[in-house]
Amino acid sequence: MTAKLIKGSEIREQILAEIKDEVNKIKKDKGVVPGLVTILVGKNPASVSYVTLKIQTAEQLGFKEVQDNQPETISEAELLALIDKYNKDDSINGILVQLPLPKHINEKKVLNAIDPDKDVDGFHPVNVGRLMIGGSEVKFPPCTPAGIQELIVRAGVPTSGAEVVVVGRSNIVGKPIAMMMVQKGQGANSTVTMVHTATKDLAAHCKRADILIVAAGVPGLVKPEWIKPGACVIDVGVNRVGEKVNEKTGKKVAILRGDVDFDEAVKVAGWITPVPGGVGPMTITMLMKNTLKSLKFKLGIA
Ligand code: NAD
Repeated sequence: MTAKLIKGSEIREQILAEIKDEVNKIKKDKGVVPGLVTILVGKNPASVSYVTLKIQTAEQLGFKEVQDNQPETISEAELLALIDKYNKDDSINGILVQLPLPKHINEKKVLNAIDPDKDVDGFHPVNVGRLMIGGSEVKFPPCTPAGIQELIVRAGVPTSGAEVVVVGRSNIVGKPIAMMMVQKGQGANSTVTMVHTATKDLAAHCKRADILIVAAGVPGLVKPEWIKPGACVIDVGVNRVGEKVNEKTGKKVAILRGDVDFDEAVKVAGWITPVPGGVGPMTITMLMKNTLKSLKFKLGIA
């Protein structure tokens, strides 16, 4: 068997086109566009490149995009005041604070200061609670888990009654995707097991999975013999395992590897996401979807 590739880079384009259509329609009917502010503190190169990608995507979709760059020396009180300003700004529907923040700033305090109705990252405790309750309570599912669920649904993988095994229990991937897959409803309704570093027999759990979602951050952790033939394998891991020179640009680029031994897993699985080009491109896409949703909630059309 050769697994069907679930190409996030292609699915991303479909979703962005859908968002763009909706933005154009709302602009025509209501005269407004979604507004997103990205707050970047300091000049961490990885953060700068993430923020640049987010800004480019928002602009491509016709959003109002505010880029707010602040020096590394900004105080916690100043940052909180800035968030308060955007909480009150009617033209802003989504507030994004790029992490990590400098050590003198309490990240939790800053993230919790964002109005939950503008928390398009879905990390505010209120939105985590809404996700737990499920159904119509959910406003902003966190972006990477939302992207994973979208990939599963758009690939046509059956989820109702399926055994889902999630490797990893982080607050940004493992826990929320487990919670989303267990809820009643489309693209979910699964029987979910979470496994982690204290799990006794990781392989035995993985082997039961109809859908195996791996977010451990350990390159090649999942072996092909841990995969049930025909299962759907979602590899969230992005691990830098070296560097190579890009033939076109001549620049050094990172060699990325997932948490699954892809070359062998592809022979056993029914569906599989590649790394890169699988889950990765979905995160920013879902951030854009959440920002549009935020405007729609405000307009009463969500
Ligand atoms: P994390 O380090 O916060 O959590 C990893 C989890 O995996 C932990 O709960 C840990 O218990 C579990 N784990 C680690 N080693 C294990 C092992 N040997 N056996 C069983 N469980 C183990 O990481 P995270 O933020 O959830 O990210 C996980 C991976 O996903 C990373 O490679 C990260 O780069 C990637 N990631 C990708 C995207 C994206 O593509 N958009 C987004 C977020 C994270």
